[in-house]
Amino acid sequence: MDFGSLWEETCSLLKAQMNYVSYTTWVEDNMIPTAEENDTLIIGAKMDGMIPMIQKKYLPLIEKCLSESAGRPMKAMILSKSEAEKRISGTDPDGNDPRLNTKYTFERFVVGDSNRFANAAALAAAESPGEAYNPLFIYGGVGLGKTHLMQAIGNRIHQEYPDKRILYLTSETFTNELVDAIQQKKTFEYRAKLRRMDVLLVDDVQFIAGRDATQQEFFNTFNELYNENKQIVLTSDRPPKDIQRLEERLCSRFEWGLVVDIKPPDEETRLAILRTKVEQENMQIPGDVLQEIAHRVEGNVRELEGCLTRLTAYSSMTRTPVSMEMCNLALREIFDQRKIKQITAELVMRTVCDFYTVSMRDLIGPTRKREITVPRQIAMYLTRELTGMSLPQIGEVFGGRDHTTVMHSCKTIEAALQTDSSRSKLVDQLKKMVQQAQ
Ligand code: ADP
Ligand code: MG
Repeated sequence: MDFGSLWEETCSLLKAQMNYVSYTTWVEDNMIPTAEENDTLIIGAKMDGMIPMIQKKYLPLIEKCLSESAGRPMKAMILSKSEAEKRISGTDPDGNDPRLNTKYTFERFVVGDSNRFANAAALAAAESPGEAYNPLFIYGGVGLGKTHLMQAIGNRIHQEYPDKRILYLTSETFTNELVDAIQQKKTFEYRAKLRRMDVLLVDDVQFIAGRDATQQEFFNTFNELYNENKQIVLTSDRPPKDIQRLEERLCSRFEWGLVVDIKPPDEETRLAILRTKVEQENMQIPGDVLQEIAHRVEGNVRELEGCLTRLTAYSSMTRTPVSMEMCNLALREIFDQRKIKQITAELVMRTVCDFYTVSMRDLIGPTRKREITVPRQIAMYLTRELTGMSLPQIGEVFGGRDHTTVMHSCKTIEAALQTDSSRSKLVDQLKKMVQQAQ
């Protein structure tokens, strides 16, 4: 019999032989069976000041019930929780393996507007674990760096506080390990293992929703750690309130600390991420290719990385350096999948013409009247935004204009978007109209 089940039986005997208040106070709420050594059960006591009293008054009874449950003579040793935990660390091979990927560091995390706040919160949590934000809840879409940031916290704490016990696990792993532990009658050990962590990182916590036993166990672990000011970090693909079938009490606990989101990176950040990766991996990829990828592959950092890997593979297979032509060839499917490719300049122009009730002829013609130049500039800007066409190509379809004219138009609109909120709303609306019209 494992000591977890042994302890459960012992407790039912103790319960019958002690008065209710003493049993709940000194045993149930206080004692944690922690390890077994040569017929001795090591018990951790949360109230370590009371250990001498408990030993004097209850140790003989505990040992009697323990032996009765085990069917052989057994001893018990009551230690403070932390002393008791030291007895397992040597025997538990998984005792201090944080399961972190050492590549996921703050140094390698590129910060932009989309993740600045999340990054700052993660840094604060890593600098003073358990004190700054607890729990820290990071949410955002797939491939946006949640796992990276969470592991960066773990890696930084590991570096700054080597004695702290850190554990990273996904909520899937948590569920599976818990189920295994229940089947092997090792729930106590598993519980004890989680509860002696100083930092618990649970990734993709949305997957525990709807699983009752897991939520219950997680709730208890959360409370234990939280009450002892241990740092908890959680990630999810959505904010706590939007996780369906998540127990209300868990949802509210997830919101006790700080909830931050990571948004998809803007083009500038995408380019910075690409440049960093290229430098780190020592890849030979020209700048204009990086710009093209940053421009076309929106939304997901993992996809950006995929493009680089693919280009590198293509280049080594063909034994030719990466070029713009190779980029268009090797990444054609990736680019083609994207909506922006399906939007044509014509569609943008028609939408803008309809909206402003100007004719296509005027739009691409020479007139410099304001009623025409504004729609024209917006149409050029949106064509640049939505189609992935180059500046000269856009100039061509807008009545054979020079690419510098197109660039000037784009800059004018970009500037207006910063300062003029009604203009910015309007451009946004037009953009949506084009996207919906395709
Ligand atoms: P998520 O957990 O949100 O799905 P990941 O953390 O797994 O996303 O990130 C996907 C990939 O993108 C990882 O390889 C990660 O290193 C990289 N990544 C994401 N965001 C950044 C960033 N801001 N800077 C550098 N790399 C990033
Ligand atoms: Mg992840």
